[in-house]
Amino acid sequence: MITLVIHGGAGNITPAMMTKEMEADYDKGLKVALDAGYAVLNGGGNSTDAVVAAITELENNPIFNAGRGSVFTKKGLHEMDAALMDGKTLAAGALAGVRNIKNPIKLANEVMLHSGHVMLSGAGAFEFALTRGIEQAPDDYFFNKQRYEQWIKIRDSNFTQLDHEGDNLKSGTPEGEYKFGTVGAVACDANGNLAAGTSTGGMTNKRFGRIGDSPVIGSGTYANNATCAISCTGHGEFFLRAVVAHDISCLMEYKGLSLQEACNVVVKDKLVKMGGEGGLIAVNAKGEHQFCMNSAGMYRAVRNSNGKEEIAYYG
Ligand code: ASP
Repeated sequence: MITLVIHGGAGNITPAMMTKEMEADYDKGLKVALDAGYAVLNGGGNSTDAVVAAITELENNPIFNAGRGSVFTKKGLHEMDAALMDGKTLAAGALAGVRNIKNPIKLANEVMLHSGHVMLSGAGAFEFALTRGIEQAPDDYFFNKQRYEQWIKIRDSNFTQLDHEGDNLKSGTPEGEYKFGTVGAVACDANGNLAAGTSTGGMTNKRFGRIGDSPVIGSGTYANNATCAISCTGHGEFFLRAVVAHDISCLMEYKGLSLQEACNVVVKDKLVKMGGEGGLIAVNAKGEHQFCMNSAGMYRAVRNSNGKEEIAYYG
């Protein structure tokens, strides 16, 4: 079964904070990404290309906290993280703290295929992007009024803000804000090969140089044909310390847990005990998928060759 699963961030996403217009925007944004990624799979393409195609659409849509819609850092800039992993070869490419790149997921693909390394950061990642003909974008391409206002409210504090942390006043987020999210995709292609990708602007008001879980292979992103492909979203500091994505893969590989059991152990027990909020999308080599979260909601969607099509937001 070929399957594509995508997410647009997890957090305090409830019917009370969504309007009909917002639902329509998210429906449209997720559907455009599903269409782009699924077309690759349906045409016999591989899972990594499908993941890149889907995430590129999400990065181009300013309602999501990735690429164009990336949040503001403490310095009022945009620093993006992204990763891509191929479950067949276990090859991976990632970048951290990169600026002025239109589609970080395309750069992650180039890092994976052509850099001889797994992760590049900051100016070095940008320099490599130029050698690979990756499209750049000026600062104003990333400007978004709502995100700017989100940042203005907390820029003089030491608070950081997770994109959907609507009621987490501890971290400085006023309740009821219109929130956006990190993006990710996982896919199983016609040959049973898996891939995972994640792309984010991180957290509003994050410190210069702060790197979350998204680009760290094994934490926010992981793919292995023997087990599963996973893309996470949530409070990165916790996902990093819980090594979420690889932990799920290990529970399947070494303890024989099903995909659902393994996701539940890590997201609904381990992370909860640590205080880490968020969720993930996952798929195994049979094309079976999971959405798993311990937050109120997660923007998510799936399409597969058994005719399944679902877009959902709430937990
Ligand atoms: N996990 C991301 C980070 O901590 C944020 C998110 O998923 O919204 O950078």
